[in-house]
Amino acid sequence: MKRAGSILIAAAVMICAVFTGTVTKTEAKSKSNIKIAIDAGHQARGNFSTEPIGPGASTRKAKVAGGATGTATRVPEYKLTLRVAKKLKKELTQRGYQVYMIRTKNNVNISNKKRAQLANKSGADIYIRIHADSSGSSAVRGASMLYPSTRNRYVKKLSKASKKLSSNIIRAYSKKTGIRNRGLVQRDDLTGTNWSKIPVTLIEMGFLSNPTEDRLMQKGSMQNKMATGIANGIDDYFGF
Ligand SMILES: [Zn+2]
Repeated sequence: MKRAGSILIAAAVMICAVFTGTVTKTEAKSKSNIKIAIDAGHQARGNFSTEPIGPGASTRKAKVAGGATGTATRVPEYKLTLRVAKKLKKELTQRGYQVYMIRTKNNVNISNKKRAQLANKSGADIYIRIHADSSGSSAVRGASMLYPSTRNRYVKKLSKASKKLSSNIIRAYSKKTGIRNRGLVQRDDLTGTNWSKIPVTLIEMGFLSNPTEDRLMQKGSMQNKMATGIANGIDDYFGF
């Protein structure tokens, strides 16, 4: 009897462990429980009044910079970022994620600090900032990811997760689009990053100052790949 009793208890413990394990795994692995905040960088008109670059900062920067313009196509950065952001939303939604869009129109006035605060308030798990790059040299090309360092005064606690997120996205993005991977860049002066309370990354999708890359990024078929690449990186980050 004594022996049978302990076997029974052991069996009960095993069933319990299996059951708990299954429930935990299901909850953690469900995309429907994960929310992604997406910010299409810039807006139709920059806002050059200033705001602090982080909580308690004395340094201030423009609320929203004007953004770059395609050197060959003349398409402004704010239009490109919104097009890709909308495609990314569609892609992530199809995969089962929840998505929160900071903006869905070009004619808005939302500062970078406010964008981060909206992302925080939305209950999102991660914050993706979408931008395109520009350089004085038209030869420069490729994509890079900007994330906060461990020395960041405002969000150093987010550095490790933000770096992982950046690394996953740039690898998948570059693989899907063929756009050159310029790697990860630590930036601690970005208002929209420093006000975030969730892992955050900013993708510079390519150079609008490079005529070939500019033309490439304006194609709908390429924008689909760009969105798919970013979504693949998000899947990798969450372990799907
Ligand atoms: Zn930008």
